[in-house]
Amino acid sequence: MRSMVRSMGLAALVAGVLTVTGVHGQTSAPLSGIMVVVDAGHGGDDEGVDPGSSRLNEKVLTLDLAQRLARQLQAQGARVFMTRRTDRFVSLGARVRFTNVLLFRPDNAADQGRSISLHFNSNLLHPNLTRVEVLVDPMAPADPFAVQLAQELAQTTGGGFGYSDAGYPPGVHPADVAPVRWTFPRAANVLSESAFLSNGSQAKQLRDTGWLEALAAAHVRALRRTLQR
Ligand SMILES: [Zn+2]
Repeated sequence: MRSMVRSMGLAALVAGVLTVTGVHGQTSAPLSGIMVVVDAGHGGDDEGVDPGSSRLNEKVLTLDLAQRLARQLQAQGARVFMTRRTDRFVSLGARVRFTNVLLFRPDNAADQGRSISLHFNSNLLHPNLTRVEVLVDPMAPADPFAVQLAQELAQTTGGGFGYSDAGYPPGVHPADVAPVRWTFPRAANVLSESAFLSNGSQAKQLRDTGWLEALAAAHVRALRRTLQR
């Protein structure tokens, strides 16, 4: 028994070394074995927030970002499931059920899957406002993925963190919203508000597909830094 454990340990060590150095230039996919539900907010008759003078459409941007995020995650080996792939209405209940069917399974411990709900912010009274918001389950402490995601998004957007909530790190906020409150694994999922549609300079950046790719990449980095084995 002991020698078997020892040899398994060696095999794992060898695999780890091979992952780092590569064999014949090959490296294993960094997110292989990780399931990710990508939830593009709004859709169909539900257009999302009032964007103010930028006229950017939240439901269109969330789907665009979701598709970029899905492609980047798949390229790194993750198994990706999207709550919508087109401009259609999906109820919050249906999104929650879809997520839980995929992620609430005995073989999916909290470190093997995440749901990422994508949204954008707006504030018509304060159109200069920028900040990053990562919303999490209010019934539990913030998961490291949420904390890392807030950091990555703040770096990518330069948008800062704005207000803070007692007991939560910068940019991470407890929120009683269905995609984080009613999905499994408990306390592990996030809803991100990367930028403000109502802010002129962020609206300009959101029209740049390169910037949307960078926002998607920020989400991928946060996953890799917290879940990659
Ligand atoms: Zn939204």
